[in-house]
Amino acid sequence: MNMSMNLTNIKAIRGLLHLFYPKLCVACEDEVPVEGEVFCLMCQQALYYTDQSSKRNNEFEAHFLGRIPLERGAAMFYYRKDTPIQSIMHALKYAKKADVGSKLGAEFGKRLKREGFMNGITAIVPVPLTWRKQKARGYNQAEILAKAISISTGVPCFGDFFIKTHETESQTSKSRQERVENVAQAFEINESYKLEEDHILLVDDVLTTGATLEACAKKLNLDNVKVSMVTLAIGRI
Ligand SMILES: [Zn+2]
Repeated sequence: MNMSMNLTNIKAIRGLLHLFYPKLCVACEDEVPVEGEVFCLMCQQALYYTDQSSKRNNEFEAHFLGRIPLERGAAMFYYRKDTPIQSIMHALKYAKKADVGSKLGAEFGKRLKREGFMNGITAIVPVPLTWRKQKARGYNQAEILAKAISISTGVPCFGDFFIKTHETESQTSKSRQERVENVAQAFEINESYKLEEDHILLVDDVLTTGATLEACAKKLNLDNVKVSMVTLAIGRI
């Protein structure tokens, strides 16, 4: 064995550790002070965390009142322009940075578990993305988040729970109800899943109108199945 072999090994091990203990802030890519932290100090202070995962009857849950019977609902951050959450959401959606979703999903999962939010939840299900968007992006960011939440909470994730059947029309000129129907027509529940007395956690990246989340919940038989929802961010709704 010679010295260069050892150095190569050390580099390889460092490289592996770097995968598990990211040293760069997910929002600005500056160094983070502590290995394993997701944000640098500047970004950490500029983010608006919600306390929704520890609070019932919060504004997330209020958003769905009278629309669907929701067990629990929570976002991790408030979406605010010109704060790090804007660059995070942009990275997730347009910059093909799936790893940002994995890191934040893992953080969110830890928080949800710690606060008892996951109690009783039997399955984690990401909302589906249209074919067009998934093809353009290469991945479904809701699924990236859902898988990471699954790993950090130990609750199984089913990425193929919803199957797309049609492409959705553009949503921009539609009312809220039209949006829900439009999304609901675009997919079905995978027949290989039989739900009974399950409690499903639906996952999306951001809550704005909530049309996709609402359409997904309405596909479930809510007499037999409970539904909760989480998103990474909540917009002004
Ligand atoms: Zn930062």
